[in-house]
Amino acid sequence: MVELEAVRASHHITVARWARPDIESPTPEEQAIHDRSEPKETDSPLTDPVPLLPVAQLYARDVPGLPCPDGADLLQILWCPFMDHDDDIPAVQVRWRGAGQVTALLSPPPEPAVIELEDYWPAPCVLHPEQVTEYPAPTQLPAEVSARVDAWQEETGRHYTEFAVAPGWKTGGWGVVPSDEDDAGDPPRCGCGTATEPLLTVGLSEWNGDDEGGWRPLEDADADDRQCYPPVGDPTGIELGDEELQIYYCPRSYEHPPVTVRVYRTL
Ligand SMILES: [Zn+2]
Ligand SMILES: [Zn+2]
Repeated sequence: MVELEAVRASHHITVARWARPDIESPTPEEQAIHDRSEPKETDSPLTDPVPLLPVAQLYARDVPGLPCPDGADLLQILWCPFMDHDDDIPAVQVRWRGAGQVTALLSPPPEPAVIELEDYWPAPCVLHPEQVTEYPAPTQLPAEVSARVDAWQEETGRHYTEFAVAPGWKTGGWGVVPSDEDDAGDPPRCGCGTATEPLLTVGLSEWNGDDEGGWRPLEDADADDRQCYPPVGDPTGIELGDEELQIYYCPRSYEHPPVTVRVYRTL
């Protein structure tokens, strides 16, 4: 476990260092702060209950097609900062709200004193929403189209998913990338039996951006030579092993709990 305050301080100092031209040489003052705030292992007992970590906040006005119950215009994703639930991944909670109804804000908002891993804390960042069209997993394509895709892959040596699926954090999309556990690429089922739909994917990197036609966001079009921290393509710093985390919602009822799926990246 690490102290959240130390994780945050270390992040901000690194950002400040990289923003200067002479990033190789921290000032003695910075070095002292950095040494002091280097995330440390801690044995602090957990508080009970543990405040959740806010992960993403999306307004419906910024995200066309964002699933929202009637009267809601704000989606909040939070997770538990400890891995003692299922599957060694943070347990996700989803909240939809009417932003106009949120009046009494807690200041400062409660937060956990310690978190399981530094990688569970999302570095603050803003969104540059961009709408892209995705295509289904190869196994979900009609047989005739699938055969043409196979032929094209054979002929060009390229991978269909490189072009059909946008990497990175995203809402909606097809969501399902076949993994070892789920070869068919079928969407997971809610406890009520309904096939769920993709809500949010916590990706590994915002690009699969080689120069040969893979996907990269518009705002990073000139980013090849940009030296910065966090690195281009990884603004959140979230690291969940080598896997992406997909969060699905039940279209039958927004009250039903979300379903989370880990997928090995296939891009
Ligand atoms: Zn928990
Ligand atoms: Zn359901």
